[in-house]
Amino acid sequence: MTASDEPGWFPIALRLRGARVLVVGGGGIALNKIRLLLAHAAWIEVLAPTLDDALATLRDTGQIHHIAAEAHPDQLNAMLPGCRLVYAATDDRAVNRAVAARADALNIPVCAVDDPEPSSFITPAQIHRGPVRIAISTGGAAPVLARRLRERIEAAMPAGLDGLARFLRDARPHVVAHCPDIDRRRRVWEDFLDGPGGAAAQRGDTATARQVLDQLLDGTRVTGEVWLVGAGPGDPDLLTLRALHLMQNADSVLYDQLLPPALLDRVRRDATRVFVGKQRDRHTMPQPDINAELIRRARAGERVLRLKGGDPFIFGRGGEEIEALVEAGIPFQVVPGITAAIGCAAYAGIPLTHRDCAQSCLFVTGHARKDGTLDLPWDRMAGRGQTIAIYMGVHALPDLCAMLVHHGLPPDWPAAIVERGTQPDQRVLTGTLATLPDLARTSGIGSPALILVGEVVRHRVVSPPIE
Ligand code: SAH
Repeated sequence: MTASDEPGWFPIALRLRGARVLVVGGGGIALNKIRLLLAHAAWIEVLAPTLDDALATLRDTGQIHHIAAEAHPDQLNAMLPGCRLVYAATDDRAVNRAVAARADALNIPVCAVDDPEPSSFITPAQIHRGPVRIAISTGGAAPVLARRLRERIEAAMPAGLDGLARFLRDARPHVVAHCPDIDRRRRVWEDFLDGPGGAAAQRGDTATARQVLDQLLDGTRVTGEVWLVGAGPGDPDLLTLRALHLMQNADSVLYDQLLPPALLDRVRRDATRVFVGKQRDRHTMPQPDINAELIRRARAGERVLRLKGGDPFIFGRGGEEIEALVEAGIPFQVVPGITAAIGCAAYAGIPLTHRDCAQSCLFVTGHARKDGTLDLPWDRMAGRGQTIAIYMGVHALPDLCAMLVHHGLPPDWPAAIVERGTQPDQRVLTGTLATLPDLARTSGIGSPALILVGEVVRHRVVSPPIE
């Protein structure tokens, strides 16, 4: 698409201090815009034959300047020159359009409220915390959607953000003076924000914040660490807020085969990406080398993201990785993720436990040993009144089902397989221990897939279609 196919809106932030702004209209629509303008110390002139009560109060307290007249062409020609902005905010679309045409002819930015067509600027929904300002716009296409998004973003904003932003603003000249190199400066700011300094500034402890900042500036604080983060089973909406935060702040990321691109896309764009593989029978990088790479990068001062599908401690070898980190004295954080069994069950509509038939749930690995055998607690697995979630079991599915029957479960015992659970192309097959292996084979089920065994499979429900 070329720029001219879709002439969108170019976002800017405008300083209005003392600038003349004309608002045409004397009712509620005008009031909404005037409320925004008041916070920006604009000189606000309101053109309208009469003002409603709220605006009259603003006039009486000297916050707006009322010109009691219709928006006739002569009146507009007299008032428009010298205006920084114009709002056409009457409840009459034709009047608004006439105002917009006149302002536009004079090259003065104009917004006809709720009418993007004749407007040359629009006013986005805004979030305002101290020096921080976030604007959300749909280019006039859907103001209600923009407001919804604003509510969501507002809810996710950390408390103390305004204090933090003020601290950063005040410390800026000091940091620029002590650290002229722009790349290193960016790094200092990032380390500050991610570490104890940022947290201190956020809770208003500026003395501690300043101390940490100075340590970062003279290089006496070592900052490398490893974040072992569970990214969930695939749907990016299942990332935790903490995972997302760390993904957006990492210097490098080590990831493996299982990780869908939709998740990797959320990692900071200029983080170094290191693929460490791990596919069945095709280990791209052996575990000791992965551990060594994590340690090497952290020692070099990087914030290393070790991103894992699902939860890092469930069949993810996360335990081994942090043992190596502890041995090397590298600080780390572990962030839990939604494990495949939980995610697949939810998105497939199969409850993992159910009062009527499953009082417990067992997570097991179906990964065969080197000699091809499965070493599993068969007697425990063949018990009733429970659900078994089998990870890495696609390859061994026929053996798994046969062994469960051999150890006492009936051949018609319910079983399901969920391929690429929670992802847009998720597939769910249900059957029994006798039928599932053939069903999976003929349907071409591949990895990653999770096997669920137990009577809960019969309780599978899917949402009724929307009428
Ligand atoms: N740490 C991960 C599991 C890693 S083992 C977690 O907590 O989920 C890899 C196995 O997880 C795969 O072989 C498959 O059985 C299962 N798995 C992971 N993601 C999956 C998905 N989106 N759909 C189905 N199974 C998945």
